[in-house]
Formats: sequence, C-alpha cells, structure tokens
Amino acid sequence: MIPRSLVPQQPGSWQTQLGRAITDPEQLLSELQLPSSLLPQALLASSRFRLRVPQGFVRRMRKGDPDDPLLRQVLPLGEELTSTEGYGLDPLAEMQSMPVPGLLHKYRGRVLLTLTGACAVHCRYCFRRHYPYNEANPTRDHWESTIAYLAHQRDVNEVILSGGDPLSLSDERLSALIGDLAAISRLQRLRIHSRIPVVLPERVDTSLLEWIDATRLHCVLVVHTNHPNEIDDTVIHAMGRLRAVGVTLLNQSVLLRGINDHADTLVELSQKLFEAGILPYYLHQLDAVQGAAHFAVGDIRAKSLVEEIRDRLPGYLVPRLVREHPHQPSKTPI
Ligand SMILES: *Cc1c(COP(=O)(O)O)cnc(C)c1O
Ligand code: SF4
Repeated sequence: MIPRSLVPQQPGSWQTQLGRAITDPEQLLSELQLPSSLLPQALLASSRFRLRVPQGFVRRMRKGDPDDPLLRQVLPLGEELTSTEGYGLDPLAEMQSMPVPGLLHKYRGRVLLTLTGACAVHCRYCFRRHYPYNEANPTRDHWESTIAYLAHQRDVNEVILSGGDPLSLSDERLSALIGDLAAISRLQRLRIHSRIPVVLPERVDTSLLEWIDATRLHCVLVVHTNHPNEIDDTVIHAMGRLRAVGVTLLNQSVLLRGINDHADTLVELSQKLFEAGILPYYLHQLDAVQGAAHFAVGDIRAKSLVEEIRDRLPGYLVPRLVREHPHQPSKTPI
C-alpha cells in the first residue's frame, strides 16, 4: 500500500469543481446542444429554485437529447410553476418534529440533522426546495443544544447527517462536528445522506477518508442515484476508496416519471450500483412538494414495477418501495 503521505494532494480541487458548477440555463443548453426554445421557461423556473449542476455530471448526459434522464433531473421546466392541489411547501410537516432547530427526531433510535441547505446539484423534484434552512440549522447557533439534546436521549444510537448535502461542508467543519458526536458514548453509527459522491466524486479525497477512517463511529453512507447513467468510472473509483475505509454503502432513489419509471432502467440501476459496491436501500415515492407533480408515478404502477424487478433480480438488489407520511414512526412500505 502507498503511504498516505505520498499520495499527491490537490487541495481545494473539489471546491473548485463545486464553484464551477453550471448555474446559467443558457450555458447548460448550449453545452448540450439543445434548442434555445427551452430557455425562457428554464429562466423562469430557475428564478424560483436555481439551476445548479456540476460539469462532471453534465458530461454524463447525452448531447442533443432534451429527454436525457440526467438532464431531466436538473433542467428547470415550466411545469414547475403549475400549482397542484395536495402538493405543499412542507409536505412532511417537518417543522413539527424539531426539538432543536435543524434536528429532526421523528423515528426511534435515530435523529436527523439538517446541517446545511447547500447542495452540489439542485434536483428539480427535491422535497427540500422550500425548506427554511437559514432558520433550521443546528450548526449556526444551536450546536451546543444539539449535543445536549443527544446526550439526554437514552434510545438514540445513530445520527444521520442530511441537508441539503452535508458533504458540501468542509472536512475541517465535519471532523470537528463528528468529534463532538463521537464523544457521546451511546452513539454507535454515523449515517451520511449525500448525493455528492455521485454528482461530484472528486469530493471523496484523502482528507474526507481520513476523518471517516479515524472516527470510532461506524460510518454508513447513503448515496442518492436515480439512473444507471449516473454511475461512471469516477463514481466506481470513489466508492472503492470509501469501502476501503470500511464505509457501508447504500443507495436511495426517487421514482421519477420519465426518468427511471421502467423496469429495465431499475434493473440496470441495481446492477450498476452493485458493481460500485453499493446496495439498493429505498425507492421513494415522490413527496408531494409544490412544483414537482409532473414527476409523480402512481402507486399501482410503482408496485408493478417493483414486482417486475423482484422477478428479475436477487432479493438483495431490490430496493424497498416506500413513502414518507408526515406523522408515521418510520417510512411506510407500499
Ligand atoms: C428517513 C428519515 C430517517 C431515517 O429512516 P430510516 O428508515 O432509518 O432510513 C430518520 N429521520 C427522519 C426524520 C427521516 O426522514
Ligand atoms: S441533492 Fe438531495 S437535498 Fe439537494 S437538491 Fe438534490 S435531492 Fe434535494
């Protein structure tokens, strides 16, 4: 094995990639050789929820195809402006299970911290698109109360870092926060929910691996991949490095109309994930957030898709189809 100190370090390289993410709809359309007729709506929709996509993710898209499944996840569309009955701003009523700002304690044994509102990519279907991250941030003024709360919860043994995307924070910040968590002896597991290792695999660098390797907490990384085309060699390489330091890798997807609502796509996704050392965990039914109704797939269709993939794959490659209900003690199987 090559000693760590001899591995070339490129300080700030993922930050540079993050800073170069495309936020201008015109630039995205022109890089993908798409018609400028898509521009007016893209500009309008991105004024509500900004376009953001790293260049490396754009390179995995097909040029000239407005229906590319990766593009559809990030391109602002006019449909987002339609308001749909039954779709709200806080579909999961999260503001009601927040004992400390930014700390969600809805399920037994585990709490979820929304560390930041920042993401490397803006997914158009995101249920957090209207989330008040500025008020609900446990690291800003509430970190001491967060730690005090956790220290008093007898049953909590797992902390989930979520967001936004927790890996958009620097390793310096993260390792300090994780140090405080690890000092609570009852905590056993640290779970990180992040889309960044897939959309910006450069993030998985030596400095990230170092604090993950060093903490006594068992680390579980739940990535977020919706389509097999998202997994290229850079992603497989990053996952291999995470596994080498003992991280358990799981994936969650959202079932999205026009993106992954075909059995062939879901089968290929599970197989690709396995190739990268990741097991499928959840397949989520879309949360009813305003502006995302055009991505919804009905429950009947969703169930028949999962039945078909169960027929075609080993059980461990079949994700659990779930929906989140605001007042239930866990995700609800469909
Ligand atoms: C999804 C979620 C969790 C984690 O649930 P698991 O079933 O353990 O993956 C925990 N807390 C909240 C608030 C959640 O939304
Ligand atoms: S990365 Fe996750 S939190 Fe961020 S916009 Fe996408 S789905 Fe939402």
